[in-house]
Amino acid sequence: MNVRVLGCSGAIGSSADAAGDPGGTTALLVDDDILIDAGTGVAVLDDDALARIDHVFLTHSHLDHIAYLPLMIDAVGDARGAPLTVHASRATLDILQAHIFNNLIWPDFTRIPSPEAPGVRFEALEVGESWTLNGRTVTALPAQHAVPSMGFAVSSGDACLAFSGDTTTNPEFWALVCALPGLRHVIVETAFPDAQIVTAHAAHHYCPRLIAEDLRGIELKAELLISHLKPPHGAQILEELRAALPGVPLRALRGGEVLEV
Ligand SMILES: [Zn+2]
Ligand SMILES: [Zn+2]
Repeated sequence: MNVRVLGCSGAIGSSADAAGDPGGTTALLVDDDILIDAGTGVAVLDDDALARIDHVFLTHSHLDHIAYLPLMIDAVGDARGAPLTVHASRATLDILQAHIFNNLIWPDFTRIPSPEAPGVRFEALEVGESWTLNGRTVTALPAQHAVPSMGFAVSSGDACLAFSGDTTTNPEFWALVCALPGLRHVIVETAFPDAQIVTAHAAHHYCPRLIAEDLRGIELKAELLISHLKPPHGAQILEELRAALPGVPLRALRGGEVLEV
């Protein structure tokens, strides 16, 4: 199983410390048919690649994680013989229905072209629940964010990748992640530097100090890959993480890289 990072930035636009990262927001492509979040990173895919995506798992409803979902449904509707399945919490699906697919912001593709053969179907998923798709299992993990949110673990059977989604202090996530068999990669967000800890609390994101508190006494058997860095602060956040977590292997996740799982 391959996980291709289409986008992992905390904002659009690249910055000097991103060194060539195109800077799209969160989107991870598992093999060629499962998408985790549909942020602006999806823009790197051509129409054939978009049409091969059968399942989208959404961590939450914020725009930087769903921006390309309405557009990709429209773009590939004619090329696909079946609806795209969107998996998310019931709360997230209700928000999408009410505020995006409401025939005001975007057509209601849960009923278009027809209620019997729509462009998209919604599948509610609860934390702790898993979906297995051709040998790959996606399990919803807890997240603590400003809106209902979840993270995901993706397992190939032998190996596993965990992704925090957007979250702040979240000991339950780390307890579950440490128990995952075959854990190879942990993608965790760190949106803000420690100087903005008040903002991190208010926006329900991590800063280095908050991650270090969660990881105290935990021995993680996988490299930490840091996502959702706000472009002007990327280098500073990484420096603070390395200082706060001595001995813990970590680096910035990069748009365009492919992780083997
Ligand atoms: Zn968010
Ligand atoms: Zn976000």
